[in-house]
Amino acid sequence: MHVKRLARENGLFFPPDPGAAEQSQIGGNVATNAGGPHAFKYGVTGAWVTGIEAVVAPGEVVTIGGFVRKDAAGYDLRSLLVGSEGTLGLITAVWLRLIPPPEAAYPLVGFYPDAGAGCRAIQASMVAGVVPSAIEYLDAVVGRITLPAFPVRPQHTAAFVVIVEADGDVETALAGRAALREALDEGAVSVYAPTGAKDVAELWRWRDGVSGAVDAHRGGKVSEDICVPVDQLEAAIAGTVEVGARHGIDACSWGHAGDGNLHSTFLVARGDADAQQVVRTAMQELFAMAIELGGTVSGEHGLGRTKSGQLSRQWAPDAIRLHEGVKRVFDPKALLNPGVKAP
Ligand SMILES: Cc1cc2nc3c(=O)[nH]c(=O)nc-3n(C[C@H](O)[C@H](O)[C@H](O)COP(=O)(O)OP(=O)(O)OC[C@H]3O[C@@H](n4cnc5c(N)ncnc54)[C@H](O)[C@@H]3O)c2cc1C
Repeated sequence: MHVKRLARENGLFFPPDPGAAEQSQIGGNVATNAGGPHAFKYGVTGAWVTGIEAVVAPGEVVTIGGFVRKDAAGYDLRSLLVGSEGTLGLITAVWLRLIPPPEAAYPLVGFYPDAGAGCRAIQASMVAGVVPSAIEYLDAVVGRITLPAFPVRPQHTAAFVVIVEADGDVETALAGRAALREALDEGAVSVYAPTGAKDVAELWRWRDGVSGAVDAHRGGKVSEDICVPVDQLEAAIAGTVEVGARHGIDACSWGHAGDGNLHSTFLVARGDADAQQVVRTAMQELFAMAIELGGTVSGEHGLGRTKSGQLSRQWAPDAIRLHEGVKRVFDPKALLNPGVKAP
């Protein structure tokens, strides 16, 4: 009980008692180091993990970190386990830093005639004097597919959509909203600025449905999650469409603009084996483009099995050697998710 009180006082979360009703399954979320729109301000899952308990080979339980908010003692094994995609150990408990949710959140949606104007608005939002909680975008194709379901009258003239959000206590959020509005206004066809809780919830529900709507458009899609420096976002958005065009496939993207993270997507029906084969070739060009622009083959989804060989595109052989060495130290018999992350 004492440690739980201590945890609360330090703003930390104590893993619930085994069998407690509130116990939740968060191991997969930590193992994937998942993120989303609000990772721009709040970071991805790993930013909140202060401790991990894991089962590692040959079957030992280890605990790294815990209630401590800072820990510089050893190598950062906690960060190695975060995002390890189940390849280094089985996470059985985590300690999380928690903060109260923001009192208010006000999104703004800017509609632009082209990607250039939209990307300028994205950069203006980043230097508007507030830290937006999210900065998202949709390209022209994704806009065409999803805007008919936009919560208010569809903005058919827009070829690029930017969503930003200001949050905090009401006063801070309103001031942030005003600053972001100014940043979005420049070059916009129009700006939608809901404040009511219902309208805000509807907007994010629409945004949550983007991936499903894109998938339904052609009866399937193949998406990747490349990430580039934010000043290369426009080039990566155009590059995604160009890679598709070179292979005769419709391509599009949307994603976490503030993080430079694109969901670059090829629209192909699930049953179309020929097109799926073409996409595999196109993907290699997409990854090459991401690296050329100074980015990475994955900003969010990790490597899994399908991308497990791609690390050599962006890391030197010596770095790959260290990476493979980590896997061997944690899992010498390669029993944990073999073929994932490390080929
Ligand atoms: C590599 C990867 C990255 C992803 N990134 C994102 C993202 O950034 N944003 C987003 O919204 N969604 C993301 N997803 C979708 C994913 O479904 C969610 O992140 C979800 O939080 C995963 O939790 P889950 O319990 O469903 O895990 P599962 O889907 O069951 O497992 C996901 C991965 O974690 C491993 N794993 C599961 N439990 C544990 C454990 N206890 N210990 C160790 N390893 C474990 C699995 O082997 C698997 O490799 C990602 C999925 C994957 C596979």
